[in-house]
Amino acid sequence: MTTSKSSFSLVRTPLDLQFRTATLTAREVLSPNYVRVRLEGDDLYGFTSLGSDDHMRLFFPDETPDSVEEMRAAPSREYTPLVWDENWLEVEFAIHGDEGVAARWAATAPIGSQIGVGGPRGSAVLTGTPGSWFLAGDETAIPAMRRFAALIGDQPARIVVEVRGSEDEIAFDAAVKVEWLHRGDSPAGSALISFLEGLKESDAVGEDPFVFVAAEQSVVKPGRALLARWGVETDHAIVKGYWKRDENEYHAPH
Ligand SMILES: Cc1cc2nc3c(=O)[nH]c(=O)nc-3n(C[C@H](O)[C@H](O)[C@H](O)COP(=O)(O)OP(=O)(O)OC[C@H]3O[C@@H](n4cnc5c(N)ncnc54)[C@H](O)[C@@H]3O)c2cc1C
Repeated sequence: MTTSKSSFSLVRTPLDLQFRTATLTAREVLSPNYVRVRLEGDDLYGFTSLGSDDHMRLFFPDETPDSVEEMRAAPSREYTPLVWDENWLEVEFAIHGDEGVAARWAATAPIGSQIGVGGPRGSAVLTGTPGSWFLAGDETAIPAMRRFAALIGDQPARIVVEVRGSEDEIAFDAAVKVEWLHRGDSPAGSALISFLEGLKESDAVGEDPFVFVAAEQSVVKPGRALLARWGVETDHAIVKGYWKRDENEYHAPH
């Protein structure tokens, strides 16, 4: 059981909500169903994201809007800031077929397209150093897992990622080898759920763990059951649905 002797905590930290406009300047295809895009613009000066699983709201207009109000009226979805500096920001998108405003934009929008960036407006900042790490998710959680993975030192750690198949495995710069699960044609989340359900108390990754689990919403229940089996308190973990099957524009509860 984690106790008050723990060497880390997740500290809720608010940020002033800002709305910015940026331009798509580059797209890199990392796998058949996964792209990284680069957004640039002077509005991005001062952009920051303090928590590894922060999300911002990206706005996807059909064509260049005439005003900020028009941009803010465009459809929007939640994405993780991956890496940024001065006037640029990079974001990674899981591409899921032809449906979805955001995925379609990421896959096909012409270079030079405009995008709106709202937030992040608050963070859970991992303060201190966990005794061990367990990170698990699907493609949509890869950016957050990349950011957490960059914090791993010599503590015991496991990183487990569900994708459709081996062609969807992506280079992952992490201190530990990523374990890839393949769902094949089974529903999203099914391989990860079976994996989580198969983890016993004795499979706990180490002392004083930080646990992150994020994928299709149905992963939340087995994710929470794992916390209970491993005796991890909920304030030492993030277990979230990042999207929900058959639901457009899903909002994760905070
Ligand atoms: C905190 C947070 C951070 C996130 N960060 C990222 C990120 O960095 N990168 C990223 O790719 N996603 C991320 N997501 C997930 C992303 O917000 C959703 O996948 C979003 O719904 C995609 O929008 P869309 O317009 O493409 O599809 P929508 O219009 O929302 O949905 C259209 C249809 O596609 C389905 N769908 C949505 N997402 C997927 C998917 N991944 N696979 C299969 N079917 C899907 C929906 O169930 C619906 O039926 C994050 C979500 C949260 C809550």
